Amino acid sequence: MLTQRPRGTVDILPGEVRVWHRFEHLVRQLFSRYGYEEIRTPMFEHTELFARGVGETTDIVEKEMYTFQDRGGRSITLRPEGTAGVVRAYVENKLYGEPGVAKLYYVGPMFRYEKPQHGRQRQFHQVGVEALGSDDPALDAEVIALSWRLLEALDVQDITIELNSVGCSECRPVYREQLIAALRPVADRLCKDCQQRLGRNPLRVLDCKQASCRAVLDEVRPPLLPDAWCDACRTHHDEVRSHLRALGLSWQDNPRLVRGLDYYTRTTWEITHPQHSTVIGGGRYNRLVAEVGGPETPGIGFAGGVERIFAAMGDQSEMPLRDGVFVAIADSAAALIATRLLEQLRGAGLRADRDYQGRSLKSQLRQADRWGARFAAILGEAELAQEAVTVRDLTEGTQTLVPLDQAAEIMRERMTRE
Ligand code: ATP
Ligand code: MG
Repeated sequence: MLTQRPRGTVDILPGEVRVWHRFEHLVRQLFSRYGYEEIRTPMFEHTELFARGVGETTDIVEKEMYTFQDRGGRSITLRPEGTAGVVRAYVENKLYGEPGVAKLYYVGPMFRYEKPQHGRQRQFHQVGVEALGSDDPALDAEVIALSWRLLEALDVQDITIELNSVGCSECRPVYREQLIAALRPVADRLCKDCQQRLGRNPLRVLDCKQASCRAVLDEVRPPLLPDAWCDACRTHHDEVRSHLRALGLSWQDNPRLVRGLDYYTRTTWEITHPQHSTVIGGGRYNRLVAEVGGPETPGIGFAGGVERIFAAMGDQSEMPLRDGVFVAIADSAAALIATRLLEQLRGAGLRADRDYQGRSLKSQLRQADRWGARFAAILGEAELAQEAVTVRDLTEGTQTLVPLDQAAEIMRERMTRE
């Protein structure tokens, strides 16, 4: 017991933490380019916030929360997701009073009492974005694009954007009734959970992972959400698609895609991977801010499971994103120049190192690779003669000769441009 971690948790050891640092660094860089700023909310909240904000009829609230009474007798819950806390903070700190859309992101641990298995832990991490204060379909497209660009920057392969709209308070209740009418006659063939869902949150049946429920759906072919959209929802969705096309993104329409959470309105999407199921899920939630006691404010956001993102990266997640410069010395006459260059690189804010064991050029380059260098700066006889250095880009596999006195600046420039 003493030497065993609780079920569903993991230790992230120093070698792996490096991958996490790189990931978080990339997230910060990318998200800030889109105008998002980090928010840090508490790891626990009043249970009531999640009951309201996530929804009483969701799996999370019904069976996955870590809830306890604190010593003052309050019911407290470890956060199972990030949106409710961010929205609570937005309302409590009156961020709606500030001009413009509030663009916020977070990265951190979440807690759900689930059966631990592949891709499912009890403490896991999410990276997420929330944009509050606009109903503009261009914003939907921006947030979807950001979720895609994140995985693209990590070079995750074989992923697909699945897109749908769950309608609004006008058209969804109509659809809900149609769906119930279609599924009632076959209710006894649905799983226990879905039989309950049918009464309380029937859209969730569309989302069930049980093979038997999927088979029933394939057979019964219940009505589809897109056929029930009202004009306003249809127009909104068409505009989202136009903006996505303008961004050069492609996607697959999935008329059965619903999100597990109750507060979603209109746009919903998931980025899925054939082996790792849903890596990122997101949606618009125009009712949530009012639901937790703030002024009517539309919002949209997504959350991705960091461990699942790493899993979808495959071997690459062991190969951290490259940064820094490894100075490789191919001629002992370059020793002093190497010392000066290293100092310039570090002075320019770059991670930089060299070999101190007199190894061959070949093994220095191998070391540069293992060290995770973005550039190898090679100093050999030819370079010395021209007061230059060969800069090999280990990500792109290209190589250029640059003047020694500009080398640090050029490499810094190339790294910060990304
Ligand atoms: P699922 O249907 O897989 O249970 P979900 O609908 O509960 O997912 P969300 O609440 O939308 O998931 O969370 C967003 C993302 O967080 C998921 O797509 C997944 O990548 C990740 N995630 C959710 N629960 C876990 C968990 N227990 N362990 C690891 N990652 C998780
Ligand atoms: Mg879940």
